[in-house]
Amino acid sequence: MSLLRFKMVDAAINHTAVEVKAPEGRPSDYFGEKVFGREAMRKYLDKKTYAALLDTMEHRTPLTREIADSIAAGMRQWALEHGADHYTHWFQPLTGGTAEKHDAFAEPDGCGGVLEEFSGKLLVQQESDASSFPNGGIRNTFEARGYSAWDPASPAFIVDTTLCIPTVFISYTGEALDYKVPLLRSLTAVDKAATEVCRYFDRNVQKVFAYLGWEQEYFLVDESLWAVRPDLMLTGRTLMGHESAKNQQLEDHYFGAIPTRVMAFMKDLEYECLKLGIPVKTRHNEVAPNQFELAPVYEEANLANDHNQLLMTIMDKIARRHQFRVLLHEKPFKGINGSGKHNNWSLGTDTGVNLFGTGKTASENLQFITFLVNAVSAVYKYNGLLKASIMSATNAHRLGANEAPPAIISAFLGSQVSAVLEKLAASKDDDAIRFDAKSIFRMSGISHIPTLLLDNTDRNRTSPFAFTGNRFEFRAVGSSDNCAEAMIVLNTAMAHELTEFRRAVDAKIEAGAKKEKAIYEVLKQMIHACRDICFDGNGYSEEWKAEAAQRGLDCETSTPRIFDRYLDRDAVRMFGDMGVLSEVELQARTEVKWETYTKKIQIEGRVLGDLAMNHIVPIASKYEALLLDKVYKMSQIPGLNASADIALIKKIQDHTAAIQKLTGEMIDARKVANRIEDQREKAVAYHDTVASCFDAIRYHIDKLEEIVDDQIWPLPKYRELLFLR
Ligand code: ADP
Ligand code: MG
Repeated sequence: MSLLRFKMVDAAINHTAVEVKAPEGRPSDYFGEKVFGREAMRKYLDKKTYAALLDTMEHRTPLTREIADSIAAGMRQWALEHGADHYTHWFQPLTGGTAEKHDAFAEPDGCGGVLEEFSGKLLVQQESDASSFPNGGIRNTFEARGYSAWDPASPAFIVDTTLCIPTVFISYTGEALDYKVPLLRSLTAVDKAATEVCRYFDRNVQKVFAYLGWEQEYFLVDESLWAVRPDLMLTGRTLMGHESAKNQQLEDHYFGAIPTRVMAFMKDLEYECLKLGIPVKTRHNEVAPNQFELAPVYEEANLANDHNQLLMTIMDKIARRHQFRVLLHEKPFKGINGSGKHNNWSLGTDTGVNLFGTGKTASENLQFITFLVNAVSAVYKYNGLLKASIMSATNAHRLGANEAPPAIISAFLGSQVSAVLEKLAASKDDDAIRFDAKSIFRMSGISHIPTLLLDNTDRNRTSPFAFTGNRFEFRAVGSSDNCAEAMIVLNTAMAHELTEFRRAVDAKIEAGAKKEKAIYEVLKQMIHACRDICFDGNGYSEEWKAEAAQRGLDCETSTPRIFDRYLDRDAVRMFGDMGVLSEVELQARTEVKWETYTKKIQIEGRVLGDLAMNHIVPIASKYEALLLDKVYKMSQIPGLNASADIALIKKIQDHTAAIQKLTGEMIDARKVANRIEDQREKAVAYHDTVASCFDAIRYHIDKLEEIVDDQIWPLPKYRELLFLR
């Protein structure tokens, strides 16, 4: 081991669990104590202000200046009493992650002292001189003003001593520069469209909410080992490293006992989350060594997404306290599973009905089938766009790489629901069908199975979009993604589908059909039209790839090319009609995606080149020199055979020569790509000519790792990164 590596491994071995002090009381005592939620609002706001704020939260009615001032006063008092001394607008720019700029409450009072100031104006809106956030050309530097504006639907909270106010981030001309604006617009669109369809079944429905329950996968690595892996530090993944002899093949990590040090981290994280009102619920080991998962109870999608963003920040902070680094990259290690973020998605009414859940009456079940078919149809029509929503330079390693999920979006419904849809599609006399709780199962020949069991029946782990009993689980989302991107596409496509559905049904009703019959007929047509998206088989198989292409599903695997889906005519129209993103916004956002892709690959290329030329080749040459010396000395003594050493020297020669040559080619390809002006073309060049070199360079480095004396190998190996904790 090199001295540095030895020191770091030694440090890692000696890191022990950090003692975590539990907060006082039970979770119900401290849940949400750092959130300016309803309880705090009631206490710190007068009645009139509280009522007005609730109205804004629930119905998005605009706040008057006067009310905003009263809210700010109450919020300031609450924050000061809870130890805050700064405040910030907290937003989600297109960089990924969150942004914040802290300002102190303290203001000079003009008499030599300070006063804690916080007005309604500061709460509601801020001008931000943030011209260096990605904007895809929407904001030229001479018009660099951006605004952050409070989103009252997501409550303010305190991190450390800073009051964080969730905000949207828009340009001077009103275009979205973040994830929250289009997410909120998509939620409005799906609310409107779904409510109108619900009215066929229940006149009392006033509002439909979209829900999101994310499951966050992540890796932990020891901080001292991480510190001597420049690739992990700068790109979030290992660009080289020979597989450990033991990986996940024994399947002994999944749901295994959680290691003590990790447990301390998890407890600490959970306390922090609960205080911030994130309803964390589940924790467990994942499939790969050092891989874990955390999942909360699902919430309204906007809040759930804010909570996921907040979680990712806090995770990072708490991991450091425990001398870990958290890896949110989708594929930090070759040869073992990567990390995703399953997005469990459903729609529910203000009357308490889950629209993806089976019901007890015929009408409830027809409603269930209606929403299910509309969702499947939306996924069918926009399967390419959905894939674009989760594609990135980092998630590309996961998709299609023979692990969940495949690079083709299909939907899995399970045998019962599939059978019901098939029966419905094949039925001749529409009026004869009645979806009551019994017949829905009788139709598929399984009437004895109670509704409850629908939830856990035949799960297909290879499906990127699976119906799991009362929700859809979109499994292709990347572990580092902002969930909003997938939710924006899903909600907008669903809203669009429901709008068309409603139009088609109304047309039939106007032409004299009875409501139920009209619904059946439209559903039947839809099932026929979209059944190609349904696939219950093995999503990893080669046969499926061929079949999916035949079915006309999107099979593109090149990340920069997939982003084109955002600018397809249908997509532009859909986003426009639903009022979610204008063409200008779509162009700008796609531009940012291409730019981000290029930059990520560029950084990886630089780190790989640097490691190859400054770390690996010199060390391999050093070992080679030792061998040469040995062979030379052996030749002085008659009767010794140095052929094995000579063969080894040749191997090292071959590998180092290949690394030097390939690295040179990669650098040349980068130079060529860098000269391209057009962002799309540049990203495509980076994909086709730069990223495509990585595996070959890595191959030779990993071979050297197997040959070169372990004593001098500079980088912590997979077995150290993955099994020391
Ligand atoms: P899995 O078996 O997929 O790991 P979990 O029980 O861990 O499932 O839960 C997955 C997530 O799905 C949780 O966040 C849970 O709250 C969420 N969930 C459950 N029901 C719904 C629903 N109706 N809508 C959205 N999310 C839901
Ligand atoms: Mg799941």
